[in-house]
Amino acid sequence: MKTPYKFLPLISPTYRTIRKVYQSFKYAGQEVNCPICDRNFSSWLRQQENGTCPSCDSKTRHRLLSLFLKKHSRIFDQPCRILHFAPDQCLRAKFQNRHNLEYTTADLSAPGVDVHTDLTNLIFDDNSFDAIFCSHVLEHIPNDRAAMSQMYRVLSPNGIAYIQVPYNRYEKTDEDPNVTDPVEREKRFGQFDHLRVYGVDLKERLESVGFQVKEEYYARQLDKSDRQRYGVWDDVIFCCTKLDRNNTTDI
Ligand SMILES: [Zn+2]
Repeated sequence: MKTPYKFLPLISPTYRTIRKVYQSFKYAGQEVNCPICDRNFSSWLRQQENGTCPSCDSKTRHRLLSLFLKKHSRIFDQPCRILHFAPDQCLRAKFQNRHNLEYTTADLSAPGVDVHTDLTNLIFDDNSFDAIFCSHVLEHIPNDRAAMSQMYRVLSPNGIAYIQVPYNRYEKTDEDPNVTDPVEREKRFGQFDHLRVYGVDLKERLESVGFQVKEEYYARQLDKSDRQRYGVWDDVIFCCTKLDRNNTTDI
């Protein structure tokens, strides 16, 4: 299992800071708003409709998750133990600044995280976390069912795993372990190190390890002007709950 984060050490903090200041001036304006760094800009980077934030590097999936959590989750309102696997810097900064969160970052090999561990064989005890964030990771993992099962195991009863993946809502999952050539993978699965594109059967796959799964299309709750302002599109967040039938407290 590999993640794109292996490239991050190549980008120095100093370069990132200079680039951030430059881009904040270049994209000065009020047309779009990043709900993660809470700043306004004339557009996203390279004028893309749902592109990258000039300041915090958030992409549409990060902003959608942030908006959804603000509206529908209680993780920011109460003490909460969070596991963030393969954390993106923009969300990581947001979580680390919240004093109510006991926040743990993990990755197989990326530098700078709290714990190095394999998502298919997590080192954490059962019931260790109230929420897990796992965005665009499962499509890199050969035994993705083991990863799902491990997330279920380390979640506490009533805990939720927020899972995002490249997703085709109109087809079944496309995967083939015989496709190993990076060029062929990029052509078929969208990136050189992706092993599949998930489809409509992902919900069943997550349910098969025990989760109760809700597919949340939060962008549909926003009007067109807000979708454009926040740079989000009609993507899905899989909210996977480890049910505890003796306790109805939601996270
Ligand atoms: Zn931002």
